[in-house]
Amino acid sequence: MQPRITKASPDAMKPKPTDVSKLGFGQIFTDHFFTMKYHINKGWYDPVIEPYRSLKLDPASMCFHYAQEIFESLKAYKNQNGMVYLFRPADNFHRMNASARRLCMPEVDVDFTLRCLKNLVLLDNDWIPKATGPALYIRAVMIATEPAVSVHPSNEYLFYIIMGPVGAYYPQGFNPTKIYVTREYVRAVRGGIGACKAAGNYAASLKAGEAASKMGYSQVLWLDALELKYVEEVGTSNIFFLIGDELITPNLSGSILPGITRDSVIKMAKLWNMKVSERPLSIDEIMSAQSKGNLKEAFASGTAAIISPIGQIFYEGKEYVVNDGKTGTVSKKLYNELLQIQYGEKEDLFGWRVPLTE
Ligand SMILES: *Cc1c(COP(=O)(O)O)cnc(C)c1O
Repeated sequence: MQPRITKASPDAMKPKPTDVSKLGFGQIFTDHFFTMKYHINKGWYDPVIEPYRSLKLDPASMCFHYAQEIFESLKAYKNQNGMVYLFRPADNFHRMNASARRLCMPEVDVDFTLRCLKNLVLLDNDWIPKATGPALYIRAVMIATEPAVSVHPSNEYLFYIIMGPVGAYYPQGFNPTKIYVTREYVRAVRGGIGACKAAGNYAASLKAGEAASKMGYSQVLWLDALELKYVEEVGTSNIFFLIGDELITPNLSGSILPGITRDSVIKMAKLWNMKVSERPLSIDEIMSAQSKGNLKEAFASGTAAIISPIGQIFYEGKEYVVNDGKTGTVSKKLYNELLQIQYGEKEDLFGWRVPLTE
């Protein structure tokens, strides 16, 4: 199978942003997108790369009613020499398939889908910002499209990929954020869909985000849903704490999204001979380490920001400072190394980088 390609006519192409320093996040989309359809009797069919357009969907489409909707996010990076890279893209499609299995949705062929993505990125190559930091954000989505208002796994699906240039996540520099521990809301519970990149998880998280924002905090630190005792994730990122010389991230207990950045951080820190643990980590252990001066660093990990240092933690009415509110050396080193690998500026010891140009 090969995707059919219809190019946008030159006069239908959108103006490209000229100032990469003014790019926001997720507002602008390129000239083309990829779609393919699924029917239970046919499998995946009709893969097309075509000019970006609105979708036409029946109002009864099941995604609108029962939230069979999953997605993936990754980026394409272009360095000063014009080389374009993806970072561990097959892992995104494997993770999408894991989400698909949990939500009774069809899996995609990873190699084929990746080939279509490469074609799409190269077709819109001129949209990729040529700078370290800004990148082309890629969003792959699968939705249930069978027109039916009764609860069952849909028999029809649409898979699509849209893309858009995004700015550097830290236009003002790499400064620590303030996070808010919520005991009122939970993100996900073991047995649920917290380990999937499923749209419903984000709808469920908005209220807590709003509460944190009202208090002046940028992200929510989620605790486990059963005991409200163990840390799970921060906002829509994974979380790491450096306590003494141990770098700790919560183990993948079933309610935590298995981040690709999380996995990259673990592998790099191990390569540097750091002591890395994936284990249950209670908020009490963190607070106790903080009071003894052992909490050295805390940071979030995810595709959008790579590494996001944490400077303050609000918990039960009090604010706790991490590393004097400054970015720690491990956070900084991880950020720099990952960025250099992504932009082809450093040897890629793990084979994470996929070059799209020669
Ligand atoms: C996407 C996401 C992450 C980070 O995953 P990456 O693969 O590193 O981008 C972490 N937690 C949640 C809830 C997410 O949606």
